[in-house]
Amino acid sequence: MIVEPKVRGFICTTAHPTGCRANVRQQIEYVKSQPKTNGPGRVLVIGSSTGYGLSSRIDLAFSSGAATIGVMFERPASGKRTASAGWYNTAAFEEFAHADGLYAKTINGDAFSRGVKEQAAELIEKDLGQVDMVVYSLASPRRTLADGTTVSSTLKTTDSDYTNKTIDLATRRITEVTVPPATEQEIADTVKVMGGEDWKEWISLLSEKGLLAPDAVTLAYSYLGPELTHPIYMDGSIGRAKEHLFRTSQEITQEVPGVTAYISVNKALVTQSSAAIPIVPLYISILYHVMKEKGTHEGCIEQMHRLYAEKLPALKTDERGMLRLDDWEMKPDVQAAVLRAWNEITDENLGQLADVEGYWEDFYQMFGFRMKGVDYAADVEVDVPVESI
Ligand code: NAD
Repeated sequence: MIVEPKVRGFICTTAHPTGCRANVRQQIEYVKSQPKTNGPGRVLVIGSSTGYGLSSRIDLAFSSGAATIGVMFERPASGKRTASAGWYNTAAFEEFAHADGLYAKTINGDAFSRGVKEQAAELIEKDLGQVDMVVYSLASPRRTLADGTTVSSTLKTTDSDYTNKTIDLATRRITEVTVPPATEQEIADTVKVMGGEDWKEWISLLSEKGLLAPDAVTLAYSYLGPELTHPIYMDGSIGRAKEHLFRTSQEITQEVPGVTAYISVNKALVTQSSAAIPIVPLYISILYHVMKEKGTHEGCIEQMHRLYAEKLPALKTDERGMLRLDDWEMKPDVQAAVLRAWNEITDENLGQLADVEGYWEDFYQMFGFRMKGVDYAADVEVDVPVESI
């Protein structure tokens, strides 16, 4: 089948198997070009198939030789429908890991459910005995609770309407968007989905079953960002969830014996989740432009390599104990340049002040399109198995 991108709003409903494989291979090549690290030997990655979770898994496997179990929620191909990008990424990851003699297995199911937690616990017990590290990189718009009800996360402010510039990426026009405040219920639901409750359930269950190695470490990812995005991010409904995630890291460290939990504050990047947040895509396009000009731009894999090769081993944290991978993004000169561009940007100077091209390139590449060296006119088999599933 010839696979073409079908973009609907901020999502692409098709994915290219060869392109996704090339993307994973490129990330592996980056890691292999760096000095090897002496990281954890056995790792569970929850949310392992795309974005930061995928790059964490790639880095830990190919830099420190970790055996990895991944948990994801992805769609295999069916009939003429391609699989989701995360499915193809995982198929490629396992293929490359196994070729290098690395242990890699994946569970495809709802990480919020008790069943998937039990399944992961059984697999750890059977194959690895214990894990030294648990990476929690879930990003989900909804969560089904134990009683069967489903709650959704919301990307809104928490007090009043917030109006600011945004970009219509399809037409490349600067427009204005007003983000309304979330209700108390919407905030509580967002905290349920994206806060720390589920992370703690995972860690408690693994700890109770004796599946965490002595001195195990667990990490979850967060974002703070500049003032410009505070009303919609840090001070918004998602920010409340991230604050809960941070408090949970402290609770895990205090309450779960032998485990230390960290929050890593990562850089704003194009992923399937960030594309859905109002205002943020314009911020990211300007940020890319500024950081590429300064030579400090990083993608998910560079970020995750810096996390696991430098920040975590050196325990370089801020005063609240968070690892700061957003350090280069938040540099005063970078933020001053972003703000200047933000204030000046119009339809006419968009090309000079923002890297919309770079945004789209990352967007398409997330789904395996526009990868160099891939023949998109060629017929491809879309039904690709993940070796361990
Ligand atoms: P992503 O959408 O690329 O990845 C989400 C992962 O979660 C995928 O592997 C997906 O399969 C998995 N997943 C979703 N729902 C699931 C479920 N119910 N069961 C099992 N797996 C499920 O997202 P991302 O941007 O890499 O985000 C990961 C984390 O990093 C989030 O906590 C996010 O807030 C944080 N973060 C993102 C950015 C950014 O700019 N993208 C910046 C800083 C921090």
